[in-house]
Amino acid sequence: MKALNKKSNKTLNLISLAVLAALAGCDGSDGTSGDNGTQGTSSLISQTLVTIGHEQCLNGGVQIDSGLDSDSSGILDAGEITTTEFVCKPTVTQMQGSSLTATTNNLWYEQGQNILGQAQLNAKSLVNARGKAKNVILFVGDGMGLSTVTAARILAGQQLGKLGEEHELSFDKFPYSGFAKTYNVDAQTPDSAGTMTAMMSGVKTDAGVIGVAEAIKRGDCATASGNELVTALELAEIAGKSTGIISTARITHATPAATYAKSAERNWEDISDMPATAIAAGCVDIASQLISFESDIESRFSGTDVDGIDVVLGGGRRHFLPKDAAYNTADATSSIEGDRTDGRDLTAEWQAQYPTGSFVIDQAGFDAVDADATQRLFGLFNESHMQYEADRKNDISGEPSLREMTDKAIDILDNNKEGFFLMVEAGRIDHGHHAGSAHGALTDTIAFADAVQAAVENTDPEETLIIVTADHSHVFTMAGYPKRGNPILGKVVSVGKTEPSLAKDGMPYTTLGYTNGKGFRDLGSETDADEGYNGDAITGRQDLTLVDTNSAGFHQESLVPRGSETHAGEDVGIYAMGPGAHLVTGTNEQSVIFHVMDYAADLVKQAEKAIN
Ligand SMILES: [Zn+2]
Repeated sequence: MKALNKKSNKTLNLISLAVLAALAGCDGSDGTSGDNGTQGTSSLISQTLVTIGHEQCLNGGVQIDSGLDSDSSGILDAGEITTTEFVCKPTVTQMQGSSLTATTNNLWYEQGQNILGQAQLNAKSLVNARGKAKNVILFVGDGMGLSTVTAARILAGQQLGKLGEEHELSFDKFPYSGFAKTYNVDAQTPDSAGTMTAMMSGVKTDAGVIGVAEAIKRGDCATASGNELVTALELAEIAGKSTGIISTARITHATPAATYAKSAERNWEDISDMPATAIAAGCVDIASQLISFESDIESRFSGTDVDGIDVVLGGGRRHFLPKDAAYNTADATSSIEGDRTDGRDLTAEWQAQYPTGSFVIDQAGFDAVDADATQRLFGLFNESHMQYEADRKNDISGEPSLREMTDKAIDILDNNKEGFFLMVEAGRIDHGHHAGSAHGALTDTIAFADAVQAAVENTDPEETLIIVTADHSHVFTMAGYPKRGNPILGKVVSVGKTEPSLAKDGMPYTTLGYTNGKGFRDLGSETDADEGYNGDAITGRQDLTLVDTNSAGFHQESLVPRGSETHAGEDVGIYAMGPGAHLVTGTNEQSVIFHVMDYAADLVKQAEKAIN
């Protein structure tokens, strides 16, 4: 029925066009006179224009009256009208004719139509109900601001031989997205501790503190008690789900720590980092809290029986080993790998606690883990942070990629029919930026997008909420007017040109740059961005004429000299797919991410149910 109506409307519009064209057209030449007709009554048709707003034709049109000229007056009088029809002008949204052909046949236009169609399918298949996500995966690109996402997307596309700008990273394809306001309760531009606490606990807090509310005084152990927050990972654990954390940073670093630890100071990664007063007041270092997670939960929440975090993969062995060369692993880079001054070997304590679990420190150990036969995996692949993705090949004993770790974690965690909660952090995007190395930050962002893709491929979208976001941005910009497809790490070459544009100082300049930091470095093929910390800051303009800015060892120019480049305070993106993903929309306080995860997996209620 609907289709038929449509068709008749179209026909009407065509008639309308013909009639209107005739009415509006210029006069033709007179035709030849016709023969006289036979005597009789003739039928007449009268056409009258109706204006916009007419009750029959809202957009105006023509009224066509017809009838027999009974009195042979040659005029169709009102009484002689037997039929009245209207031919209405189409509404302006119903654009007609060939003038649109160039638009509608255009690829961008078609693409826009397809995207719209997909968005409508997404809206139709939307399930707006609490607790539909069996699994939740939170991906955090540490320091992955919007300029980082855009530049990484272009670099990834160019590495595939494309122009780049049109490329899509895995999470660019997610159906829902929004923005997060990242400030901490006490800071305009935030740090990772306060931001990750907001995401994991649903409560914004101060910079520098882990898993505790804003009434805390940073660094004051005595103020921690009573301010401890509950995290999504803890709720999932209590609810009987499997849990996992992955980071390319030290697993005791701010972002991963905020999933499991409570600390008045993010830097208390092991006991040697703590002041004597804090130790005396009963505060416990972060590494130690990771090992005692299971018993801590059970003593905090009476009536709980949990089995601890099932998968822990990252760097930071130094915080788990005694300060004694006898405990060095084959992967050690320092003469004494461990930092702990209490003589505890937390890796041995973990193994004693979980005799069937696998503890690994390198690629070979990681590869040997059979995910289907393993229930518990603890991997510490570096003394400090894991390597930059660009530098991973240079690790002493070899390290798995973020994608490999994500893949294996999901394979282990999804053995639980109650589902799982997994947090995956690309910690070194942030570090690449701090070191002033766009190459380091962007190659880690691409590796991060790859890990997200692994999660998309290895989970069921009907039962898995995947959220991808950043904790904060960096003072990293894409500048000038480079032409389409200009190498993203290159010097600006303008549209229509083949040679680099020159600034007012007569020198070329790069598209990417930093507002502050250590500034310019030309380290050739060096893939460890942290090499940029050596030497004094070199800020301001440099002559880049003979410098290959596409090389891994090039560090972009910066303006304000600092020991390291800083975070930035603007909003970051939140990208989501799966049950509850549609709740990620608009501009939000960062803490809303917890609430979306809670709604999607019904974490609070499920945890309460497990206790009672
Ligand atoms: Zn940072």
